[in-house]
Amino acid sequence: MSSDIASLERRNLVGLGRTDLAGEMAEFGAEPFRARQLWHWIYHRGVTDFADMTNLAKSFREQLAKTYELRRPEISRALASRDGTRKWLLRFADGQEVETVHIPETDRGTLCVSSQVGCTLTCSFCHTGTQRLVRNLSAAEIVGQIMVARDALGEWPSPKDDRQLTNIVLMGMGEPLYNFANVAAAMKIAMDPEGLAVSRRKITLSTSGVVPMIERCGAELGVNLAVSLHAVTDELRERLVPLNRKYPIAELLWACRNYPGSSNARRITFEYVMLKGVNDSPAEAKELVRLLKGIPAKVNLIPFNPWPGAPYECSSGEAIKAFSDIVFEAGYSAPVRTPRGRDISAACGQLKSDSVRARRTAQAPQPAA
Ligand code: SAH
Ligand code: SF4
Repeated sequence: MSSDIASLERRNLVGLGRTDLAGEMAEFGAEPFRARQLWHWIYHRGVTDFADMTNLAKSFREQLAKTYELRRPEISRALASRDGTRKWLLRFADGQEVETVHIPETDRGTLCVSSQVGCTLTCSFCHTGTQRLVRNLSAAEIVGQIMVARDALGEWPSPKDDRQLTNIVLMGMGEPLYNFANVAAAMKIAMDPEGLAVSRRKITLSTSGVVPMIERCGAELGVNLAVSLHAVTDELRERLVPLNRKYPIAELLWACRNYPGSSNARRITFEYVMLKGVNDSPAEAKELVRLLKGIPAKVNLIPFNPWPGAPYECSSGEAIKAFSDIVFEAGYSAPVRTPRGRDISAACGQLKSDSVRARRTAQAPQPAA
């Protein structure tokens, strides 16, 4: 409790972009180069204590510490999978929680970041969409997820090579294009070469199809785009992704065709969750190929990750293979995303559900269904 009171009194500098940090320091009466030094300490070195900023005068450090703090989200639970995947349940000042997942692979390490607590879009196969509480994460809470992961991986100062955290995907909880201002502010900090230094080419934003924001995302951030398509007809997509009623497939694909910066070298990823008997037929694979014609695309087939009460099942291995073969033969890469960290429920798109469930069960036992 006392730390909460302290945090209300002192302003958190984590989450401020370059301009805001410069403005804050100007108001504080510090010279402009001080803001640049602070930036370096906060985002390149990852320090959490002003006392460690050794090239600043001791009295200045003490003044800073009285007015400001360098706060990360609190780790309320940390889990490690047998396959090396790590998951952190993070708690913010108001008690709300999200999850962040690190997935190590041979040639990269991807951090799956959340953009909202819950999600207002009620995709029928997604557990996040069933959570009642929804709020946007602040820029500090979004960039804080990356910084906590860096702390845990021991990756300060931002390493040039041999990183465990090389890629960021905005595929955790929430719809990032419904919280674009904060997502953009956080990603600008992440991309800054003197900060967290994760290149925009290694950042992917996944959207369920908020068409009016797609162009802006490309123009302002220039990150890779992933689109949760999941169906090839409007009729079915409306059932899976209700946002399709507002922005139907044709409009969504039009926005993808015009996505700034996409090219054969930088393809748009189309995510397609494999639902048994719902969207997984060979005819639908062929229609998908037809729809994507002319778009520099790759397809990511995601085995459905079931949750209790979910109205779907995952497609069979054969159906997924047949679907993938058709898309692949048409010239698109169509990897099946292998589930990672299953033993710690770490799949992107299904984050936090387990902990919420566990707690609900602990508080009020559910009647037997
Ligand atoms: N809101 C954004 C990003 C978060 S979801 C979006 O919808 O794109 C990240 C990905 O996980 C999306 O492609 C989403 O459709 C998928 N997903 C959600 N629930 C899933 C589940 N139970 N099994 C498999 N994939 C799921
Ligand atoms: Fe929200 Fe994405 Fe889940 Fe849909 S799939 S409910 S947009 S988090």
